[in-house]
Amino acid sequence: NVGGYIQAVLDRNLAENISRVLYPNDNFFEGKELRLKQEYFVVAATLHDIVRRFKSAKFGSRDPVRTAFDTFPDKVAIQLNDTHPSLAIPELMRILVDEENLSWDKAWEVTVRTCAYTNHTVLPEALERWPLQLLEALLPRHLQIIYEINQRFLDRVYAQFPGDHERLRRMSLVEEGPVKRINMAHLCIVGAHAVNGVARIHSDILKNSVFKDFYELEPHKFQNKTNGITPRRWLLLCNPGLAEVIAQRIGEDFVADLDQLQRLRGFVDDEAFLRDVAKVKQENKAKFAAFLQKECGLRVNPASLFDVQVKRIHEYKRQLLNCLHVITLYNRIKKDPNKPFVPRTVMIGGKAAPGYHMAKMIIKLVTSIGDVVNQDPAVGDRLKVVFLENYRVSLAEKVIPAADLSEQISTAGTEASGTGNMKFMLNGALTIGTMDGANVEMAEEAGEENLFIFGMRVEDVEALDRQGYRARDYYERLPELRQAVDQLSSGFFSPRQPDLFRDIVNMLMNHDRFKVFADYEDYVKCQEKVSALYKVGTP
Ligand SMILES: *Cc1c(COP(=O)(O)O)cnc(C)c1O
Repeated sequence: NVGGYIQAVLDRNLAENISRVLYPNDNFFEGKELRLKQEYFVVAATLHDIVRRFKSAKFGSRDPVRTAFDTFPDKVAIQLNDTHPSLAIPELMRILVDEENLSWDKAWEVTVRTCAYTNHTVLPEALERWPLQLLEALLPRHLQIIYEINQRFLDRVYAQFPGDHERLRRMSLVEEGPVKRINMAHLCIVGAHAVNGVARIHSDILKNSVFKDFYELEPHKFQNKTNGITPRRWLLLCNPGLAEVIAQRIGEDFVADLDQLQRLRGFVDDEAFLRDVAKVKQENKAKFAAFLQKECGLRVNPASLFDVQVKRIHEYKRQLLNCLHVITLYNRIKKDPNKPFVPRTVMIGGKAAPGYHMAKMIIKLVTSIGDVVNQDPAVGDRLKVVFLENYRVSLAEKVIPAADLSEQISTAGTEASGTGNMKFMLNGALTIGTMDGANVEMAEEAGEENLFIFGMRVEDVEALDRQGYRARDYYERLPELRQAVDQLSSGFFSPRQPDLFRDIVNMLMNHDRFKVFADYEDYVKCQEKVSALYKVGTP
């Protein structure tokens, strides 16, 4: 109305930019200013709304202590889903101290009772550590508050561990170094009354290593909440055929009480039930094969074992271990073409973060192996390698009900929980996996004899770290591994660009943080058991 049209449009563009992009990284912290603005924007808006509702609600309006915010933690719970909303802690302190005139001690008590924190990863490159300078420029008052939180916290630590300066350094919210940073996970643990991991093994790792110092100071804060999935989407909606077969045997109560699935134990030897389950799986496989044919022009054998690894592409998830197995199968067929072979369709799907070079090379490798294997007349339809493009929930809903084998093969100690593992299990796929994340509890529930568990346990990984992991030892000892790696080096799968996979080989041989070769031998042996069992189950 005052004529500032142009400025109004420009301002609106600036405002809308805050929510224009979702950072596409998976388990990687990229300390970008826009991301920090986004995180603060969402936190500030949420807290403003929470406080407004609290102050206007009936329960407080006749209560004179309402202004002291005594009942705030009884009415409000703020669950910090990872550290991304961790600025909620200094923002709530700012509101209570600066705007509501509470004392620091009172405000801190309210804040800690209100906030709880869920950790989602132990990978160091994923932990948010914002440069002090960026916070200073964008949120100076919040930085002041973080300093005050830190000062009072370190005083407490020092009182309990007098003289332990090294402990103070490790636990400080402020990390010293060429660039000073604020460790947001430390802020969350200090500012929350409860801290949880997302699977039992992950919660144990938090207590025993990643946040050991904090556990020793305040053991009562640490808990576990193993992740879960919704059976409405991941069974009823995506696999109505299987849901119906289940309902015919045990009724429909399992829809609201999944523990009821235990009653299927009574049907483990029931021929008709097993036939019905197998029939649904075969129908789902045929349907997905038709989908691949129509959407991607790919022909796959619906009688083959559907071996599926779908998840974000990441070195720790070890799609490369899967690739080495596929190459090994191919070499075995080529070496002995007339030997019986359990046919497999290996499907690998997932997105690479745009800036993650190694993840993109892994996708290139999967498609390159496919180009060689799928064309080879000596192989026929005994082995196919398919890269599933644009993996997303709607594709997961199609492929998971069609899977025979679920690949959950991360290096032990790296996958916080996983939820894909649970989706596959609920749809009757068998799991080949390491003792990592929720796989551990799935094996406990189903019986370890009902999963294909292989490879190093967390303790083995730690022992190998102490001893020093040497990829070359495995390369020299295992001829099939050596052959596969040599094929990658020599351009067997990239004849027009022989050095295409040089970076992958160099990483695997010289700086593989996730120890792919150490689990190769046991993985291949375990896959042999998978094939043998599939053969028994095939008429
Ligand atoms: C469930 C799901 C994931 C998580 O899979 P993980 O195997 O646990 O990493 C990722 N992407 C999509 C589309 C999913 O549905």
